[in-house]
Amino acid sequence: MNVKGCEVEQQKPGGAFVSFKFSDTLLETLASGGYRLPTPIQRKLIPVLMQGNNAVASAQTGSGKTLAYLLPILESIAPKDTSTHHYTKAFILSPTKELAQQIYEVTKPFAAALGLRAVLLQGGGKRTDEVKRLERGVDIVIATPQRALEHIEAKRIDVKAIKHLVVDEADMMFDMGFVSYLEKIFAVMTERSQKIIISATITPRVVKLAKAYIKPLRRVELDPPGKVADTITQFLYPVVRSKKEALLAWLISSNDLKRVLVFVRKKELADGVAESLKEWGYKVGILHGERMHQERKKSLLAFREGRYQILVATDIAARGLDIADLEAVINYDIPHVKHDFIHRVGRTGRAGKEGMAITLVSPDEIEQLNDLQKVLGSKIKEVIIPEYAPKEVKSRGYLLHPPQRKRKAPSKKKTSTPGMTKKGKKRKTTKRDGWKLFDAAKENGKKKKGRK
Ligand code: AMP
Repeated sequence: MNVKGCEVEQQKPGGAFVSFKFSDTLLETLASGGYRLPTPIQRKLIPVLMQGNNAVASAQTGSGKTLAYLLPILESIAPKDTSTHHYTKAFILSPTKELAQQIYEVTKPFAAALGLRAVLLQGGGKRTDEVKRLERGVDIVIATPQRALEHIEAKRIDVKAIKHLVVDEADMMFDMGFVSYLEKIFAVMTERSQKIIISATITPRVVKLAKAYIKPLRRVELDPPGKVADTITQFLYPVVRSKKEALLAWLISSNDLKRVLVFVRKKELADGVAESLKEWGYKVGILHGERMHQERKKSLLAFREGRYQILVATDIAARGLDIADLEAVINYDIPHVKHDFIHRVGRTGRAGKEGMAITLVSPDEIEQLNDLQKVLGSKIKEVIIPEYAPKEVKSRGYLLHPPQRKRKAPSKKKTSTPGMTKKGKKRKTTKRDGWKLFDAAKENGKKKKGRK
């Protein structure tokens, strides 16, 4: 396994994780999970958290951030003997059910190896099952904010005992309007508990929340915000709005894409685009906030397992989701929140693999595209397919940026600098030079005349 930005290090027995002084069980579980070298965010964040610091950390999506906060927590709460009493020691909050599920899946093998119990609490999940599991006793809770607060208010979780609180994808918590739940949860936590905020981009809102509830605070930043990973190749396709669906189908078939995630801004549009793709004969899943929890779960699972070739989703799926071997992300439109673009395309090109991100742009989206390119700080390569491109783009040959003229390769012939010898000494003016100057002056004169 390899992850983006991870340099090759000298292999030691037990892997380079040994340097963190983790327990043997944790090291063995890492090795059997195929994790050998810590990723850059893991190298940076793990020591900070192992010292018990509070932290607000930013990391590029797909950078291995889940284990960066999970490993120090596991090391801290791992039972020292078999007579462990199970009560909530770690509390991890995620904005979406899908991400919560994913964090839970990452946690499970480690919890099992260490004799810890983990539970997933989320809207749509069976409340009675959750209550039963909480009553039996759990060590790690992974939850969405609303459901988490519900259990806290019903006193099913003893917040005083919580040693570690994590808020994952904090900036999305704000976008989804969960901040009031977070504030209530932070307000009941003890000062002693270690608080960790993870956010792909540390926005002023995130800093404000962190400063209000976390003291003292360490800031751990890895990647400059708004960076698309180098493993992702991007293309921009100008298209007439009414031809977007046809172009989408054509792109999937002509690139022979086996697993592709299509992002759209709106829920209704997700349904419509998925229907059209089904009519083209594709196996398609849908993921958006208005679908039932079970439907969302089923779609994502079928897509992960390859039973669906395409998943059409709103930006709810843009954050944190880790889908193995996702070849391409196609942006059917430009997202409302510009930073979501980076999260969308970050679903591909993960764990060191190559990925492709394609964005379809119709003439009415030019302004949004300009804003997006400012956020990205770079131009996306334009590709024009005459059948789908708007008329004006076809005739001009580009949408935003004229293709760069190829510079003439410098001729290999040895050229001497005018007025200098090959050895670099000043050359004497000869008769031949005189004729050359004469010809040049004549030519110049002709041009000037022609201009009049
Ligand atoms: P995350 O950013 O936590 O969603 O992780 C992105 C991907 O990187 C997941 O597939 C992880 O399993 C993988 N990953 C995390 N840490 C490592 C590591 N140290 N070595 C290899 N892969 C990793």
